[in-house]
Amino acid sequence: MAKSSSQLEFEIIRRYFANPNLSFKRDGIELGIGDDAALIDVPANKHLAMSMDVLISGIHFPADADPALIANRSLAVNLSDLAAMAAQPYCFTLGLVLPDSDETWLQKFSEGLASLARQYNCPLVGGDTSRGPLSISLQVQGLVDRSQASRRSAANRGDKIYVSGNLGDGAVALLALGLDSHLGSSFSFGAQSLSDQDRQYFSDAYFKPQPQLELAAAAGKLFSSCIDISDGLQGDLGHILAASSLAATINIDALPYSMPCQRCMDTENRIVAALFGGDDYQLCFTVPEGDCAELERLARDIGVKVSCIGEIVSGEGVAYLDTDGAPVDFSARAYQHFASVQSA
Ligand code: ADP
Ligand code: MG
Repeated sequence: MAKSSSQLEFEIIRRYFANPNLSFKRDGIELGIGDDAALIDVPANKHLAMSMDVLISGIHFPADADPALIANRSLAVNLSDLAAMAAQPYCFTLGLVLPDSDETWLQKFSEGLASLARQYNCPLVGGDTSRGPLSISLQVQGLVDRSQASRRSAANRGDKIYVSGNLGDGAVALLALGLDSHLGSSFSFGAQSLSDQDRQYFSDAYFKPQPQLELAAAAGKLFSSCIDISDGLQGDLGHILAASSLAATINIDALPYSMPCQRCMDTENRIVAALFGGDDYQLCFTVPEGDCAELERLARDIGVKVSCIGEIVSGEGVAYLDTDGAPVDFSARAYQHFASVQSA
């Protein structure tokens, strides 16, 4: 007799998700997959931070990509949201819509998920499985000390603005992988001249973004506000400014770029990628001036690059300056195009 769809769903869950590599035990998880709901403890001095992302095949990831890489990206971008609250991973749930039960796909997907889940001690505790066009909804739960969650609304005048890592890699990665970029045709880079090594670097930047959880754990207590850069610095910093009712000056010459990014793009395109590209999953955070030396020391100790790129001031919006403090000439073609799109 053919299996009913609920029997099939049950087998998928048992085989690929309710396994000890992925739904492993950890302190505080009283009950995981298998009942009507998971049961988890929240320590008295902590907030439970929750964040969700929905990724649709063909829109948020290429349909034919390696399922392990799709899994990695799906969980990593969620973990980046936890880092942006200065929270640490606790557990996650998965809403999976699948066109059919392709065993090879499911095996690789669950292995990819398990490897990142293990790395961050963040077990799968439940979910839902259904049939339809491929989409992956992930909700992560994290814990953060009640006094230390880094909200967008808490930046102060005089705070320095920092970013972790490098900017612009996410925007180049989209083009390098042949995916659509919202930056359109005014944005370009030397695709033909990419070495195999740099091509791999950008593929990793897209599929294996590194959530800045270690930085959040070491130095989150010094952040007055924080956001992760998923839509580009201009828009994401803009959220901090709007929520805090403040403005910013940014030193355009201080924006950090990777060597592969510098090799394949001129300055104008790099600025466009950093400010408007997105998909970088770096943290943009503010730090009171008196704590900056400590912040830089803590980041150095864990080997994470941080760059001071500007300052919170009163007023509205972002003013871009060069290293001498002179306003940047925005007449550059590509820049103007995006600046007008952003303000539209
Ligand atoms: P219900 O009918 O109560 O929604 P399900 O049959 O959908 O129960 O799920 C059975 C168990 O399997 C539940 O504990 C649920 O959390 C878990 N589960 C279902 N789908 C997934 C999934 N994709 N990943 C992890 N756990 C899942
Ligand atoms: Mg269900």
